Amino acid sequence: MGSMILMPEELTAENGAKSLLIGEFFETRHHECRDCEGDGCFNCDYKGEFIEKIPVSWTTIKAIYRMAVKKYGKPVPNHGGVVSDGTMGT
Ligand SMILES: [Zn+2]
Repeated sequence: MGSMILMPEELTAENGAKSLLIGEFFETRHHECRDCEGDGCFNCDYKGEFIEKIPVSWTTIKAIYRMAVKKYGKPVPNHGGVVSDGTMGT
């Protein structure tokens, strides 16, 4: 694993993540042009298809992040109520 950094546990509007991330990611969906059935024409700019960009929803962005946090996140020692047992001795 690479170097470790501190990240917030959750993405929220409050920590600025919503305005940062929303509208940044897209799924692309290809639709064959109905006018030329893929051959290419004026309407589809001679590509034979249209590419629809579908923004990844805020709900999905949060869900992806939540899973990454669950898998890789570690509580920060002396931050909040979670105490690590990484100290030596008693
Ligand atoms: Zn076309």
